[in-house]
Amino acid sequence: MAKGYDANREQKDLIASFGKILGKRAKFTCEWCGSKDDLRPWEYSPGEEPAPELLALLCGRCRAIAGGAPAEPGELHTLRNALWSDIEAIAGGAARLLLRSKVPWAREAIEESIYDETLREKLFKELR
Ligand SMILES: [Zn+2]
Repeated sequence: MAKGYDANREQKDLIASFGKILGKRAKFTCEWCGSKDDLRPWEYSPGEEPAPELLALLCGRCRAIAGGAPAEPGELHTLRNALWSDIEAIAGGAARLLLRSKVPWAREAIEESIYDETLREKLFKELR
C-alpha cells in the first residue's frame, strides 16, 4: 500500500515538474480549446511514465470532457483543430474523444490530420 502511495506521489511530482514546460509550450492556454480557465496538466496515457509529449495542458472544461462528461457539438468541432498538433497527448487525446463521442466525421478528420500512422492505427484499434 505504502509503495503504491509513494509511486503515485512521485508520479504527481513529476507531472507538476513539467508544469513550466507545458505552460510555455501551450502559451498558457488550453491546448484543446484555447481557454485560460483552470489550466492543469492532463495525462493522456496514465499507465506510462509521465513525459511532456504525453501530457496536455487543459482547461477545467476540457479535462471534464476527457474524463467522460458529454461534450456539446461545438466543443467537438473545437477539438477537431487539436488533431493537427504534433504532440501525441494533444492530437491523440482529442482524436480519442471524437471517436468515443461517435461523431460521424471523426474517422475522416483523423485520417486527414494525424500524419503519424502508428498513432492512427493505435487510435482505431482502441475503438474496436
Ligand atoms: Zn479547454
